[in-house]
Amino acid sequence: MTNNQQPINLACPIPSYDLQIIKLGHGSGGKMTESLIEKVFLPLIGNDILNERDDAAIVSVENVSIAITTDSYVVSPIFFPGGDIGSLSIHGTINDLAMRGARPLFISAAFIMEEGLPIGDLQKIIASVHEACLQSGVTLVAADTKVVNHGAADKLFITTTGIGLVSINPAPACNRAMPGDAIIISGDIGRHGIAVMTSREGLDLETEILTDSCSINDVVQAMLQVGQHKIHCLRDITRGGLSGVLNELAIASDVGMTIEEEFVPLHPQVKAVCELLGLDPLYVACEGRFVAIVDADCAEQMLEIMSRHACAQDARIIGTVVQEHKSRVVLRSCIGGNRILDKLSGEQLPRIC
Ligand code: MG
Repeated sequence: MTNNQQPINLACPIPSYDLQIIKLGHGSGGKMTESLIEKVFLPLIGNDILNERDDAAIVSVENVSIAITTDSYVVSPIFFPGGDIGSLSIHGTINDLAMRGARPLFISAAFIMEEGLPIGDLQKIIASVHEACLQSGVTLVAADTKVVNHGAADKLFITTTGIGLVSINPAPACNRAMPGDAIIISGDIGRHGIAVMTSREGLDLETEILTDSCSINDVVQAMLQVGQHKIHCLRDITRGGLSGVLNELAIASDVGMTIEEEFVPLHPQVKAVCELLGLDPLYVACEGRFVAIVDADCAEQMLEIMSRHACAQDARIIGTVVQEHKSRVVLRSCIGGNRILDKLSGEQLPRIC
């Protein structure tokens, strides 16, 4: 380096855990998000319920068990094949309640709008919110609107809270997986992430992949009616994809998991786009798929129930909960090798939900 040259920035591009400033990877649902929650949020606001880190918290008020969840939606673009930020926000909230065995009842939503958002776009999204609530049997009972300067947000962000009634005890929870349990997936993975990504500016892949965003409440209620005590864990496959979700469950339950790659359903077009762009579909988000970890003796019965619902008709068993390799998820690949499925470090596809 001569005296006139600036020093070359040799900073390594791999995800950083220094937690000095927020980076996009902190929203990934992977290791960076985990680090943010464990080192910044929980030390300051953690409590017994929050520390459980389930999809929704269950609290008791005068002997009535209530599930409560909150979520924010920052997806870009706000319209994508098969859906938009409005329906996505309702489906996501309902699904988090359903994952605790709750019957979703009420939703509140806050709409943070960027100056310049066309009213026509907003109307389409509000109509989509309304339609998703009607279809899912929930009522939007409280809402808020805020407008920020152009550039201070990206078109529209939505924050929701959902409330549901819980009538089963114990409710499905992330720490209840037991060795011997069957791991069921409700359908093919990765459609939502790929649908959003392909709709982003400059990515014309001539594919017709639609989001899988939908409410999974009906199928979950049907499963619970038949085998509520045998359904140990339910988790919707959102940020972090299938791999992220399984890791969360394995860690919370202190068990190992073994997954057969050949049984994991994947749409050929999703597979093709992932191969083209170097993405691993096991880490791509869905918004209408879930994992159910159930007593092995009721697994076939659960598959039969799921097959009657459009959103879960391709459900299948993909693996087993094991006593070995605790807190680790091992994938048996199609060619016979084993590999550890770790949580994603940074962000594969930012702002997907
Ligand atoms: Mg969830």
